[in-house]
Amino acid sequence: MINILVVEDEKNIRDVIKAYLSKEGYKVFTAQDGERALEVFEDQDIHLVILDLMLPKLSGEEVCTYLRAKSDVPIIMLTAKVDEDAKIEGLAIGADDYVTKPFSPRVLVSRVKALLRRSYRDSNPLAEKFIFNNGDLVVDADKMLVMKNGQNVDMTASEFKVLMVLLSNPGQVFSREQLIQSAFGHDYDGFDRTIDTYIKNIRRKIEENPKRPKYILTIYGIGYKYGGSK
Ligand code: CA
Repeated sequence: MINILVVEDEKNIRDVIKAYLSKEGYKVFTAQDGERALEVFEDQDIHLVILDLMLPKLSGEEVCTYLRAKSDVPIIMLTAKVDEDAKIEGLAIGADDYVTKPFSPRVLVSRVKALLRRSYRDSNPLAEKFIFNNGDLVVDADKMLVMKNGQNVDMTASEFKVLMVLLSNPGQVFSREQLIQSAFGHDYDGFDRTIDTYIKNIRRKIEENPKRPKYILTIYGIGYKYGGSK
């Protein structure tokens, strides 16, 4: 499930955005000021942030700057300021897109979808849905949804990215470094071995028996490959 954080102090707008996004199947968290936004972001695994510019406690710019210092989470700025300066500043401090108020909720939803596709593109193959082992494992790339035996599996964005790289290239062996590059890009600064933790978590979540995995296989001395059957 995709988690979206909506940061907006005006309750009406917050409620409308939440209603529209929930209807699309996203899980929506809300915050009514900048400080709360950072708390929710710390506590939850957020995949996209919709961020109002004019906020109590911490401004949208401050929240954006803070988030960017620690995360690549896609951010859409909401701005009532119609002047170009505010938009340019928003983009300069790291927002990925902006929507000017007043806005149509439908337009906002389509911008959310487009930004999610763009942001998770590398882990998002052309096929939207993967079905393995007669439906024991179903992965919906667009919705970032994983189901095991009909049950939703909660995955972090990072785990999902790693899983998608392997799923999209069945049978191909990836070294740890290749897997990190493909899943996270060049600016990833973790250790190669961090990937083992992701793999361990993914196995725990999708394998019947994580000690004898059938989906994510270890190729000793090299790395990992996807070994499930379509
Ligand atoms: Ca506001």
